Amino acid sequence: MNTPMTKCGPENVALKICVQTKVRIEACACRACARFAAPAAKYQAKRRDALALLERITSLINDHPTYAIAKPNWTDVEQMAHVRGNVMRLAIDLTGSDDEWATRLRIDEALCAEDDDVQDALTSALR
Ligand SMILES: [Zn+2]
Repeated sequence: MNTPMTKCGPENVALKICVQTKVRIEACACRACARFAAPAAKYQAKRRDALALLERITSLINDHPTYAIAKPNWTDVEQMAHVRGNVMRLAIDLTGSDDEWATRLRIDEALCAEDDDVQDALTSALR
């Protein structure tokens, strides 16, 4: 079978992934991938990936079916609980805290703030 090569075909993608870390090479900072690279380039690649992932997560939350936002059923609640739980875990991990449950409680207490104040409360909680 003669399949035309596409720019983003599986073969090409595999060449862009570090064999040691399984991170894309542009963002990988292992000894081999960072050997001739500038820290600024690795930093920017990692930052770009983190922002892309956060944008995707935001889309997953915002693109929930309109019927679910208007009149959710318990399956919708369960799905959003799953998303919330995973985002909470990410927030806890980003604090670098060893005390997961204390951090989780601090974040949940911050989430009790009114909508207009929740970002300030989270900023304080996630220091
Ligand atoms: Zn690497």
